[in-house]
Amino acid sequence: MSDISPALIERIRTARGFVIDMDGTLALGDARSGGHKELPGAIGFLALLRSRAVPFRIFTNGTAKPPASYAASLRRAGFDVSDAELLTPSTAAAHWFLRHKITRVRVLGSAGVAHPLEEAGVEVIGSSQQAEGIQAVFTGWFPDFTFRDLEAACHDVWRGALLTTASNVPFFASTEGRTIGVSFAINSMIRALTSRRPMVLGKPSSSAFHVALAQMGLPRSAAARVVVLGDDPALEMRMARNAGAIAAGMATGLMKPETLHTLEPKNRPDHLFDDLESLSRIIAR
Ligand SMILES: [Mg+2]
Repeated sequence: MSDISPALIERIRTARGFVIDMDGTLALGDARSGGHKELPGAIGFLALLRSRAVPFRIFTNGTAKPPASYAASLRRAGFDVSDAELLTPSTAAAHWFLRHKITRVRVLGSAGVAHPLEEAGVEVIGSSQQAEGIQAVFTGWFPDFTFRDLEAACHDVWRGALLTTASNVPFFASTEGRTIGVSFAINSMIRALTSRRPMVLGKPSSSAFHVALAQMGLPRSAAARVVVLGDDPALEMRMARNAGAIAAGMATGLMKPETLHTLEPKNRPDHLFDDLESLSRIIAR
């Protein structure tokens, strides 16, 4: 591990909250985002935050499952985490839609994508269901998508629906290595056909970060005192920089010390930690 500045150590030690990535940071799951296995020091790290009464939210960018299912998968792996402490882009999207008075959304996604929206009171239209007045198309984890779904979404967008997405990064880390992000592939097709850029409602958007802050009971003014922990430069590091939070990188997933210099400044961590064991040592000392 390279040297870390005393000022950064102090900021991390006195942080008011942590927004923590799941895959590649706390644990690794399989390509279907199940069967999680702890990464070094991750269970102990959450226990340390708990013992110090520092709030945290685990924010995965996966939408294969509803938040409660991810929380259960982590509990099976030995983590002490409640359902309410787990967020997905759909949790953030539900808040964003309601704040913008969007109540009728076509979802290109599995049940995990739609569930948090339905719970929040957003009317979910099925991926290829015939319907008028769609205000937004929302894409997420959807390996079973078909041409008809693509067609329906494109027609909505041509009629003026917003194109929104859970995630627009090409890959995520799994036990099988580099795994393709389904929504990225779907977004690419819709974008090629409609020339519309998808609006990201999960990481790295500031709106997603603010939902996590609010759920930890923190005001927006606390952003600079919140640590975002993750392994993906384009997701967690970018989100931290967008929001003015502390960007703590983990070398247990997509980010490696030898490739740090290739990252754009907006995607660079304030510090890259070997694993959560080394971060725990800094907080506890
Ligand atoms: Mg990750």
